[in-house]
Amino acid sequence: MRKKATITIETERLLILRRSGRVVDRWCAGCRAEVKVVGVEEAAAIAGLSQRKLFRLAEAGEIHFIETPQGQALFCLNSLSGNRRLLTEGLA
Ligand SMILES: [Zn+2]
Repeated sequence: MRKKATITIETERLLILRRSGRVVDRWCAGCRAEVKVVGVEEAAAIAGLSQRKLFRLAEAGEIHFIETPQGQALFCLNSLSGNRRLLTEGLA
């Protein structure tokens, strides 16, 4: 049962990514690796959170984000999916 839920989430996530087509690779200091990052709108859609909650998580260090020279925040997909428990259970 648990496995099925995970697969559903994965599929939805992939669909969102494929639709938006705005996934780019960036170096993430939190992961120490090149990761896929998305803009705040995509990240909020994937996580099912409001943009405000997303930023709050990012500021708490729960989600990695990268700021572009233009001041745009890009969110690390690795840390988003790594926080699925947080994301699915909601924030305390
Ligand atoms: Zn990361």
